[in-house]
Amino acid sequence: ARRPIVGGNWKCNPESMAKLDGLVENMNACDASKCDIYVCPSPLHVACVCSKVKAGINVCPQNCNFKGCGAYTGEVAVEQMKDLKIEWVLIGHSERREYFQESNDLLAEKMKLILDSGMKCVYAIGEKLPEREKGLESTMAVCIEQLEKVKGLLDPAKVVIAYEPVWAIGTGVTATAAQAQETHAEIRKWIAKNVSEECAAGIRIQYGGSANAKNAPELSACPDIDGFLVGGASLKPEFKDIVDAIS
Ligand code: 13P
Repeated sequence: ARRPIVGGNWKCNPESMAKLDGLVENMNACDASKCDIYVCPSPLHVACVCSKVKAGINVCPQNCNFKGCGAYTGEVAVEQMKDLKIEWVLIGHSERREYFQESNDLLAEKMKLILDSGMKCVYAIGEKLPEREKGLESTMAVCIEQLEKVKGLLDPAKVVIAYEPVWAIGTGVTATAAQAQETHAEIRKWIAKNVSEECAAGIRIQYGGSANAKNAPELSACPDIDGFLVGGASLKPEFKDIVDAIS
């Protein structure tokens, strides 16, 4: 059985150090015995959060440089993360793809670097509204395009896929459990065919997009949904209830 995994992506929040402790408290209130838990603070807060989270809560930066340390102004390198004992990095979030023009080629390069360095990777994918409106086939075409260049790197012990339909992110419109389950199952089927049955059976696929304490029980009961990547609700005490809802 796959161990569920729940992440809290704080994005570019909170606006002050004064508010950081409260958010860390939300994380430290979680029961980390039933599932893996990680938190994605903004880069400025990563080191501080590392020193404040309890054992069992992993810090997972929201992005990393495509190369190591050196002349890359504005970037954070995996070596610097490893030095802080960080094990996980999130890449491919739709906001990185959209506002910072991160391409599938660049993300494949980043994933290779992360895995080569001995770290683990959460890789976010997902379609936008027009593709969802056209149906499952066009939804899957986008997901496949986002997976194609990393398929040789997919390893259940080192990579988690976060399926986050862009139309569900921050909108309050959650994918229905049926919609999410169907897409997760299709992604798994594609991996079975294009990587291996073993990889498909073992790799964890999180759902993200307006996940909250209310919809988490039904979503997490779906056989192919292995946890959540939570945005807005990870800034609230509610995050703990999402973790508790994991079945
Ligand atoms: P929301 O939970 O706010 O919709 O954000 C989801 C997300 O983008 C997590 O990475």
